[in-house]
Amino acid sequence: MGSIQILGAGECGLPLAHRLLRGGLPVTLVAARDAASVLDGTVTSTQLKFPRTLDLEADAGLGHWRARAPEIRGIRLAMVMEGQRVLGWSGRLSRPAQSVDQRTVFARWLTDYVDAGGELEIADPSTAELERRAARADLTVVTRASAELAAYFPVDPGWPAPGEPARRLAVFYLDGVAADPDGYGMYVSLPGLGEVISYPGFTGAPGQERCCEMLLIEALPGGPLDAFGMYESPAERWRRAVRLLGETLPADLADRYRAAELTDGGAVAVGGVTPTVRRPVGVLPSGQPILGGGDVVCRMDPGGAQGANNAAHCAADYASAILAGPAGPFDRTWMEAAAAPWLTGTAHPAARWTDAVLAPPAELQQLLMAAQGDPALANAFADTFARPADLSRLLALGAETSQQVG
Ligand SMILES: Cc1cc2nc3c(=O)[nH]c(=O)nc-3n(C[C@H](O)[C@H](O)[C@H](O)COP(=O)(O)OP(=O)(O)OC[C@H]3O[C@@H](n4cnc5c(N)ncnc54)[C@H](O)[C@@H]3O)c2cc1C
Repeated sequence: MGSIQILGAGECGLPLAHRLLRGGLPVTLVAARDAASVLDGTVTSTQLKFPRTLDLEADAGLGHWRARAPEIRGIRLAMVMEGQRVLGWSGRLSRPAQSVDQRTVFARWLTDYVDAGGELEIADPSTAELERRAARADLTVVTRASAELAAYFPVDPGWPAPGEPARRLAVFYLDGVAADPDGYGMYVSLPGLGEVISYPGFTGAPGQERCCEMLLIEALPGGPLDAFGMYESPAERWRRAVRLLGETLPADLADRYRAAELTDGGAVAVGGVTPTVRRPVGVLPSGQPILGGGDVVCRMDPGGAQGANNAAHCAADYASAILAGPAGPFDRTWMEAAAAPWLTGTAHPAARWTDAVLAPPAELQQLLMAAQGDPALANAFADTFARPADLSRLLALGAETSQQVG
């Protein structure tokens, strides 16, 4: 039986470690931070998870919040120009989504893992140290990578590599936001400016979680929404956000946020994600192959709400491959084969969907318009967020609808 080390304790590394431990394999999880410092940190995501992801977590004994976190039952989409709605519809998800603060989730899963007898090391190994560790282990899975380590995973030439974020991001976790009457999430497209996305979520230390609203501003770089300085205080950023929402959203939407307050001192994050699709097998300078997972291999802008879902599917697929042949050998050929189902079934469709959502091609734009008068199309659009591999089915449905209208 092989020894397996997993670098990174997030959406991919933690469920993978749990699944292997439950399968009786010796596994070492190497995390940069312990549960207490994860909880003390700032928010890292808005992590909306779709039902198939929530099912995977429940199957692995990790779905602690399913009965308690608020349900996100659908998507209320609006296109807004100069403060006026030019398009609007609501699509119901076949089954609800949920979003639980990654600080809450990672802290709880780390504690569960140690309580279940898992070996945890708090370390941030250099590449040289990782080389030494990888030489001792039968398999090393990398789910968190510095720029130097990520560079050992070749960029997949089949995918665009823009080299910079498509959006500048600002995240706020809020108390006191007026709730959507149907428990829907809000997706506002602001042509020329970016997007404003918001939905109910769950935050707080494990055992003391409470409902909140999670707001993500996706700003086109250099545009008016790209306004959050790196050195402003959380309160200053939130004041600026309220002003921007007032200036860009219709009054009924902006008013939802007027009385809101940040949930805690770590409730704000700003930054950007450079989308990159890499090959799943990295080779260290010594020639040692390592298997990449989650964002290390497929990093997407959050506008498509895919990364955390993608990472959870990666963990489940990798665990199945490892548990199917726990003795290895976990060589390069095995790694390529282990990653293939995840790449083709989940990661690549998710990356395509994210690109389509951020810059809709003509056929998707037509479909977005048609969904306004067609609830079935609106529901199908919502469900494609949950299953991006169905994008071609959605486009076919859109084409059928426009033919009928024509
Ligand atoms: C603003 C934003 C919103 C998002 N919204 C969504 C969404 O709605 N739906 C969705 O599916 N995906 C969303 N994502 C993407 C999703 O969060 C990531 O794709 C997912 O967490 C990747 O999982 P992973 O295991 O590869 O890496 P991670 O979950 O990042 O884990 C890697 C490791 O890095 C550690 N780590 C992370 N941040 C830090 C830090 N600041 N300091 C030290 N260590 C750290 C983690 O604890 C972990 O050990 C969003 C991302 C961002 C930035």
